[in-house]
Amino acid sequence: MTATDASTGAVRIPGLDGELVVDPEALREAGADYGQIVHRRPVAVLRPASVRDIVTVVRFANRHGIAVSVRGQGHSVYGQAQVRAGIVVDSRTLATIHRIGPDSAVVDAGVRWTDLIRASLAIGRTSPVNTDYIGLSVGGTLSVGGIGGASSKHGLQVDTVRELEVVTGDGRLVRCSERDDRELFRAVLGGLGQFAIIVRATVGLVPAETTARTYRLSYPTVEALTADQRRVLADGRFDYLEGQVVPLDGGGWSYLLEGAVYYTAPNQPHDPEVLAGLHPIDTEIVELPYFDWLDRITEIVDELTALRLPNPWINLFLPDAGTDDYVARAVAELTPADTGGGPVLLYPVPRARLTRPFVRVPDSETVFLFAVLRMVLPPDPAEVDRLLRVNRTLYERARDLGATQYAIGAIPMTNRDWARHFGEEWPAVERAKARFDPRRVLNPGQRIFED
Ligand SMILES: Cc1cc2nc3c(=O)[nH]c(=O)nc-3n(C[C@H](O)[C@H](O)[C@H](O)COP(=O)(O)OP(=O)(O)OC[C@H]3O[C@@H](n4cnc5c(N)ncnc54)[C@H](O)[C@@H]3O)c2cc1C
Repeated sequence: MTATDASTGAVRIPGLDGELVVDPEALREAGADYGQIVHRRPVAVLRPASVRDIVTVVRFANRHGIAVSVRGQGHSVYGQAQVRAGIVVDSRTLATIHRIGPDSAVVDAGVRWTDLIRASLAIGRTSPVNTDYIGLSVGGTLSVGGIGGASSKHGLQVDTVRELEVVTGDGRLVRCSERDDRELFRAVLGGLGQFAIIVRATVGLVPAETTARTYRLSYPTVEALTADQRRVLADGRFDYLEGQVVPLDGGGWSYLLEGAVYYTAPNQPHDPEVLAGLHPIDTEIVELPYFDWLDRITEIVDELTALRLPNPWINLFLPDAGTDDYVARAVAELTPADTGGGPVLLYPVPRARLTRPFVRVPDSETVFLFAVLRMVLPPDPAEVDRLLRVNRTLYERARDLGATQYAIGAIPMTNRDWARHFGEEWPAVERAKARFDPRRVLNPGQRIFED
């Protein structure tokens, strides 16, 4: 389908409540993302005004063999939400918070977590797991997993979802949950947009505390960091647990445990208890109001978005047993040019909390997220290519240890790699694709079924 087809009416555009736009700025935006590496221009962008619009366009796309992608906030880094010569559904125009109750909220997929958190805090509730950057869409993170410091307690965001309303790849509007149409529910959560478009989600909420007391503990080695991370993961003393590999001024790296305890006065964390049995070489304690803590990187991310730098990220889930050696080697090879000042994350989550089958993680009681969130500054295509090759090498080395990728990054993958990534779930992935998106119109930007 070309723009000429669309504008001359060679393909009749079905009646819509919202609009299907073809102006260059809309196409440019939908043909790019936060990563600034892949650019695939669609032929039109749907700005839906109703769920019916999405059903209509998906059915239309099935009839005419046109690919459809959904774009939330466009914070993918490797073209995941893009589609060449297809239609991009911009979920930002369907972003209503329908209901907030004491233990759950019903929201459109286009709602940003930041808006849900603000609204739920008004009644003393919060989403249990929040990503480091909360300006992402509900549909966008539920399609990948949604990990953050509270994953140590509550799993991923997908693990907190009670029910979904989706438009399947063949254009059916379906409500699904663990009870109703379980196969679809489980396929969509962390399903990388391959089976259905999420239009509405019921997500769990928990009571919110007012304050975050955060503990930044420094360590000289990766082993020292992960030893204490394992300790605090086991006893659950932190409500939030992450970690970073931080460059030192004179060269080399330091290792940081970031923990937070959430509380509401007059209750207070007792610092000696919180720090008991840990062995950092430096400790910094800072307090922030709970929302400000969740919102802490929004300003910097918004500034970086405006710079449009390439972001060839790599995100891996490492098995516990291989983590220390793998990270030590990866960090020894890492130069400041390899990160461009972007953060390097390292933190553990208990596998038992990760319940969605299509979010693939290693077979290990504890898995570590290791993420090199690179920026290329100034933008340089040759440097991006080099870093994509480095990512591939790091990925293969990790895979040999039983690691998986957290599929939000920029790792060149073939169809065979994806089959291997999904492992024993691959037949279920293929079955779900055949059942829910038989014409394979949805989200080709993930390149899972491409040959
Ligand atoms: C600065 C920054 C910080 C981040 N921090 C974290 C973090 O702490 N933890 C974490 O887990 N991730 C993090 N991410 C990654 C982020 O969660 C994913 O890239 C997420 O998919 C982006 O959400 P989005 O709304 O921008 O989605 P998009 O980039 O627009 O879309 C992402 C994918 O989801 C699909 N999709 C989007 N909406 C829907 C829908 N309604 N139905 C079906 N499929 C859909 C798209 O087609 C695409 O395949 C971060 C990303 C950035 C840029």
